[in-house]
Amino acid sequence: MQYRDALCSTVTRVPDTTWLDVPDDHPFGLHTLPYGIVSTTANPERRVGVRIGDLVLDAGAAAEQAGMESGACWLTPSLNAFLALGPHAWASGRDWLVLVLTDPSYRDAIAPHLIPLADTVLHLPIEVADYVDFYASEHHARNVGRIFRPDSPGLPPSWMHLPIGYHGRAGTVVVSGTDVVRPHGQRRGSVGAPPEFGPSTRLDIEAELGFVVGGATTRGTRVDLDAAPDHLFGVVLLNDWSARDIQAFESVPLGPFLGKSFATSISAWVTPMAAFEGARVSVPGQADPLPLPYLRGEQVARGLDLHLEVRVNETVVSTPHARELHWSPEQMLAHLTVNGASLRDGDLLGSGTISGPEKGSRGSLLELSWGGTEPITLDDGTTRDFLEDGDVVTMTAWAPGPDASRIGVAEVVGRVVPAV
Ligand code: CA
Repeated sequence: MQYRDALCSTVTRVPDTTWLDVPDDHPFGLHTLPYGIVSTTANPERRVGVRIGDLVLDAGAAAEQAGMESGACWLTPSLNAFLALGPHAWASGRDWLVLVLTDPSYRDAIAPHLIPLADTVLHLPIEVADYVDFYASEHHARNVGRIFRPDSPGLPPSWMHLPIGYHGRAGTVVVSGTDVVRPHGQRRGSVGAPPEFGPSTRLDIEAELGFVVGGATTRGTRVDLDAAPDHLFGVVLLNDWSARDIQAFESVPLGPFLGKSFATSISAWVTPMAAFEGARVSVPGQADPLPLPYLRGEQVARGLDLHLEVRVNETVVSTPHARELHWSPEQMLAHLTVNGASLRDGDLLGSGTISGPEKGSRGSLLELSWGGTEPITLDDGTTRDFLEDGDVVTMTAWAPGPDASRIGVAEVVGRVVPAV
């Protein structure tokens, strides 16, 4: 594309401080710089925005104003054109943003293109190509096993050998803030009776990370572990809404289907993987059994030191930690392509529900209420086993950044509305 050269030729500069008035501890400061798709009343065209503090840089217009020819890929209504350019362009784009937000000589050119966040409308940041949801938290997998199959081994036989997952429904991925309608479906009836049909009575959440993929590949090629970072653009929070009653009846033996395909919410902002350079941690032990070489590579697999918080209405119900995930995003991507399956720009990989060893770090109500047998109490005194109509679920996350800063992943929020 014509803007590839311009994006790849920009100057690298080590970040210092921005000329903007952004508090040092702001989770969307200079070290984060997430990308989203915005529109405004004054300009209803959807285009790429970059968040800095509580402002949004109208990135394409600013790039043009500042003489950067790359503006075209930031004037498109999704991030997919930028994702298609690959890792050198992603790095150069980020370097350019840091340059113009730190060098005061750019101030006059850039400042007119900063918009208060509150004045923007946020849209789905990517045109989701294929959506895969993994199952990478050992505590979650063991908990679900104990709840649904108390007499069987804790983990499926393949779980320790590969990051298992399923292909989800890309077309129902929605942006944070979108209401979620309680889905209808079939659930198991009483013994000897036919199944029941109606609105789900066990509507649940799953707190996950979503990895946004770029740099499409050709069918028949593999992306090995060393090349996987070249295809991992960024991170969102992902709420994999799950109707447990529908899921439980339909999913044997083929796995999740209508119990999950009605909606999956993601953050409006994609925090680049580059922002997490200082927040990569070794994943929990993969020594016994040792993964096959294609999942092992030369280096120890690295997870993300991301702290999540899950709220139902005003109550924090869980604080999962992404470092608990057994499989790294690079391993997920290498496994996804080991059979020659191609990648598309805008692919979305869910990590699977993130649960830790303590009750307060479980990433689903299924686990928090232990299959509905131990309801949790909210701050208003009401109890929940599963979600009620009107409940608002909010997930946020941060990771440690340079100089004691915080790298934010934008909230994903959704409200449950009654079945129709
Ligand atoms: Ca899931």
